[in-house]
Amino acid sequence: MTGHSTTSIQQFELFIDSKSFPAESGETIPIVDSATEETFATIAAGGASDIDRAATVASESTTAWLEMSPPERGRVLNRAAMLIRKNKESLAELLTRENGKPISQARTEIEVGARYFEYYAGATDKIQGETIPLGREYVDFTIREPLGVTGHIVPWNFPVSLFARSVAPSLAAGNAVVVKPAEQTPLTSVELGKLLDEAGIPDGTINVVPGYGAEAGAALTNHSDITAIAFTGSVPTGKKVAATAARQMKHVHIEAGGKNPNVVFPDADLEAAIEGTLISIFTRNAGQVCSAGDRLLVHKEVHEEFLKELVERVEALTVGPGLEDPDIGALVSEEQYKKVRKYIKIGRRELGEPLVNGVPKNTDKMAGYFVGPTIFDDANNDLRIAREEIFGPVLTVIPFETETEALEIANDSDYGLSAGIFTNDLERAHRFARDVIAGQVYINEWFAGGVETPFGGHRESGFGREKGLEALDQFTTTKNVCLSIGE
Ligand code: NAD
Repeated sequence: MTGHSTTSIQQFELFIDSKSFPAESGETIPIVDSATEETFATIAAGGASDIDRAATVASESTTAWLEMSPPERGRVLNRAAMLIRKNKESLAELLTRENGKPISQARTEIEVGARYFEYYAGATDKIQGETIPLGREYVDFTIREPLGVTGHIVPWNFPVSLFARSVAPSLAAGNAVVVKPAEQTPLTSVELGKLLDEAGIPDGTINVVPGYGAEAGAALTNHSDITAIAFTGSVPTGKKVAATAARQMKHVHIEAGGKNPNVVFPDADLEAAIEGTLISIFTRNAGQVCSAGDRLLVHKEVHEEFLKELVERVEALTVGPGLEDPDIGALVSEEQYKKVRKYIKIGRRELGEPLVNGVPKNTDKMAGYFVGPTIFDDANNDLRIAREEIFGPVLTVIPFETETEALEIANDSDYGLSAGIFTNDLERAHRFARDVIAGQVYINEWFAGGVETPFGGHRESGFGREKGLEALDQFTTTKNVCLSIGE
């Protein structure tokens, strides 16, 4: 990695206009390895003046980026994908250290990041308008134009793939970008900025300004040169960002949290449902996933058998430092650790002892923000642990009796991000997909889908769609041109 090191602590800087800088204030943020609780790096803490510098160079760079032909721009994005893959191992290690996730999951995330650049590389020369038949006297056509400079606010749970998810389509559409990564996990974002630069993007077209949300994030949202904001993060911050964007009439889309129902019917392949449940809440990023299956709705007929098998499988999961590649790594930060522990306490108050108690078996040997898998059984949907996003390996199980009841519980939420169903009844699966309030529905496999499939929320989970070709709509605007050609 290219952060430089004076002692054993590596120092990382802002990346603006193809160069690395300290923050104008000189301030830095310590980056803590959540598996050891040791600071292993620092990052420059960007503020309003750094955001201003980045937004200004970005708006000056848009011409250079647009002067490249669409296929040339595509080739740059393809080279970025190639460079991300080439640096997979070092990026994965950095990602595991800043985030805590198991190294094999970090490698997968780097690959997903590369896939976004590869996928949108192929779109640069396909962002087409249409002609509209107004009659013989007119020629009417539309042009899909870039927005200018887009601002990207990224959370800490998937720092690489969520950077790529919104930056790649925005660049493909011809915009310049300024990225504000999460203060907990900014290192891989800075490295991605440098790899895009190495891939041949014009100076100033990619800028990465880490810093605290209330400073760098708010300054980015407020900056008059930023024409659109792509926000991924929590509901309260998303609302603030959307309100600021609305005051300035900026384009904005919000990808926020979830409390997603995972519904298991007796006619399902129960082994697939167990596997789906494990990945949905425990073995993908320790449950720190917006589309985690944090509410398990199990039909009463199979409830006992299903929970018995699930508990056995969950108790066999390993918890430990990400670099040792366990099933569950450390949570990202002390703050997140405290939040998850608090919810386990709330669950105990609401329901009594959990079936699996969240204490990693070898806990007294480890420093680090480790929380083991936790299962609260026999809950109802009114409890706080069934309504609030916990964002950790904590599962709330709600038994049900009928399909109608399952759908009612699934939809009784402030959120509407993802929903899943395990059933072999095709008609039931389709009825559920039709009636559930969610941006994406997984049938018989949790997290099914790919970079090609649109993703987003309803209700408090946000609005707008990322991923797939649909994401390009978030980063372009349509100009209609109407020419009168007479008789
Ligand atoms: P967060 O809202 O605390 O932070 C997200 C980003 O916003 C960070 O970069 C942060 O610095 C920045 N920020 C904070 N205050 C700001 C402000 N006033 N103005 C501008 N920016 C500000 O969220 P988090 O805790 O980092 O992330 C976890 C949340 O993200 C969870 O709720 C999760 O569900 C959600 N999430 C959603 C998706 C999705 O696609 N829907 C994906 C991943 C995570």
